[in-house]
Amino acid sequence: MNKGLLIVVSGPAGSGKGTVNGKLLESDAYAFSVSATTRAPRPGEVDGVNYHYVTREDFERRIRAKEMLEYTEYCGNYYGTPLRETLEALNAGKNMILEIEVEGALNVKRVYPEAVLIMLLPPSFAVQEARLRGRATETEEKILERLERTRAELPELSHYDYVVYNYDGGADTCADDIRAIVRAERCAVRRHRTAAAEYFETH
Ligand code: 5GP
Repeated sequence: MNKGLLIVVSGPAGSGKGTVNGKLLESDAYAFSVSATTRAPRPGEVDGVNYHYVTREDFERRIRAKEMLEYTEYCGNYYGTPLRETLEALNAGKNMILEIEVEGALNVKRVYPEAVLIMLLPPSFAVQEARLRGRATETEEKILERLERTRAELPELSHYDYVVYNYDGGADTCADDIRAIVRAERCAVRRHRTAAAEYFETH
């Protein structure tokens, strides 16, 4: 009854998922799953906060030891969700946010069907492209790679449970939408299968 919800938030580059998730994490009711990765830290990123930065050997050892809830290889690096941390957060009643790409999200749903899959999207592909170019922090090649990736991933939207659009300046609204989704999901009858029997048994 008091277990937290496993929430997967996916979104293409430029969807603002980091900002939106940051707003959710202002509340103690939410926790963020720190993934393991073999990619190098970017400037400003902190080990244990953004990711657990590990070697390929270590990552492969974790896979063999079944320490990952899911993992994927993305642009030449491993990324994966540590299983134990996720289960501990859920058992502590936290809503656990996994900020992961589409393939990983679908794998989570397979092994943990109670997960809620949310896709965060810019209002349109054209707006996404404008946002990426506006950042001016990435090379043209990287921008094109991310846009191509979006074309490949978006058909999988049909396997998600919810889509939330992030209009310009809309991060607060998106966070509100996700809190509303979580609130409704916690009341879903399929999450309360024994409710009828318990109703008569409880004094
Ligand atoms: P970045 O290198 O930009 O931090 O992440 C690249 C992509 O990997 C993003 O779409 C991010 O959401 C995704 N990602 C981060 N951690 C994980 C993870 O643990 N598992 C999976 N499947 N994807 C992840």
